Amino acid sequence: MVKGTHSMGKKSGKKNTIYCRRCGSKSYNLNRNKCSSCGYGKSARLRGYNWQKG
Ligand SMILES: [Zn+2]
Repeated sequence: MVKGTHSMGKKSGKKNTIYCRRCGSKSYNLNRNKCSSCGYGKSARLRGYNWQKG
């Protein structure tokens, strides 16, 4: 087990996420073509869950 850096797991050298055009956070996933933050890409609606508050 390595402490620190290697706990980043599957992070490769490639960039998988870019800045989302809608919410502006760096959560737009190029592999899934979807923003993990707001859901931009697949659905026109904002990503949201019931367990989310606020
Ligand atoms: Zn977004």
